[in-house]
Amino acid sequence: MAYVITEQCTKDEKCVEVCPVDCIHPRKDEEKFAETAQLFVDPVNCIDCGACVPVCEASAVFALDDVPEQFKAAIEKNAQYYA
Ligand code: SF4
Ligand code: SF4
Repeated sequence: MAYVITEQCTKDEKCVEVCPVDCIHPRKDEEKFAETAQLFVDPVNCIDCGACVPVCEASAVFALDDVPEQFKAAIEKNAQYYA
């Protein structure tokens, strides 16, 4: 599985601070941060710990199986960022 960030993301990096495997990017110190509208979870390295969900004030993170219908495109977008 993997967690997925949707377009509601405000890029405040609360999830980045708690992710134990640093699989949420781009971070502020990375070049692509300015040009991306949201952050993305690396589906290969995410260990499904769920730590990113409660800290997200925008409710932008979902477990893969719980991604709401209207945000399904985010699944591919998150993966695509790391392709
Ligand atoms: S905590 Fe939520 S709103 Fe903040 S960067 Fe992470 S996914 Fe985006
Ligand atoms: S579920 Fe855990 S490992 Fe996966 S993105 Fe969230 S904090 Fe990182």
